[in-house]
Amino acid sequence: MQSEWVLKNLIIEIGKRIWSRGYVAANDGNITIKLNEKEILTTPTGVSKGFMTHDMILKVDYAGNLLTGNSKYKPSSEMKMHLEIYKERPDVSSVVHAHPPYCTSFAVAGIPLDKCVLPEAIIVIGAVPIAKYGLPSTMEVPDSIRPHIKSSDAILLENHGAITLGTDLLNAYYKMETLEHTANIVWNAMQLGNLNVLPEYERDRLLALRNNYNLQGRVNVCDSSSSRNIDKKNMLSNRKLVHDKITEDSIEKITQEILKKLKADKSE
Ligand SMILES: [Zn+2]
Repeated sequence: MQSEWVLKNLIIEIGKRIWSRGYVAANDGNITIKLNEKEILTTPTGVSKGFMTHDMILKVDYAGNLLTGNSKYKPSSEMKMHLEIYKERPDVSSVVHAHPPYCTSFAVAGIPLDKCVLPEAIIVIGAVPIAKYGLPSTMEVPDSIRPHIKSSDAILLENHGAITLGTDLLNAYYKMETLEHTANIVWNAMQLGNLNVLPEYERDRLLALRNNYNLQGRVNVCDSSSSRNIDKKNMLSNRKLVHDKITEDSIEKITQEILKKLKADKSE
């Protein structure tokens, strides 16, 4: 186990990364590390995660009470969510919560990232479910994620953001990177009008690789059926039709304006 000092520095570093990559805005997001069965390190609430200093990282117990740290700061407002994860998943030692724009867009659109699309994603985060909306900072959030915690290390929070679980902080953070990268690629493919889904055979070969790597953590098996391809196949052509219609309407309007002006000029 790394020293508390080193772990606090790591939280500060990951805070800078989630902020600089645009995964959080203003004072959003939170990070925790399980120190032992009695203590947890947490980011403070009301502070930008891009500008944290050593004295801001707090130590709390499993009831969320402040143990040590600058009393000027308060533990993360989503402590209940983190505590629920540690309670349900003894194998998890760190949790990252952020609002990355692409995966949060899927969480807002109500579209789970559950299709077998990218090899890395199938192995590392699997099919990512969406937990029902809960009022941030209340027990509604832990209640909403409870059905998903045991089966997945990455969960989207409806109309809110995402959480990733890891064996250590880097492990949890990398899952957030993989999640956002996957959401970005899936979004781009949807704009192009199609989402090719890897068939069951390829999915199973990837899951066999996961077993060979002996990866820890949990993943839901992704959906390899192409029948439920996200219904955006004609998105690009639809957008083009809308665009063409707008252009046509604009040309018509301008033509009418010119004709009106010419008529007016003639009669002067
Ligand atoms: Zn949040």
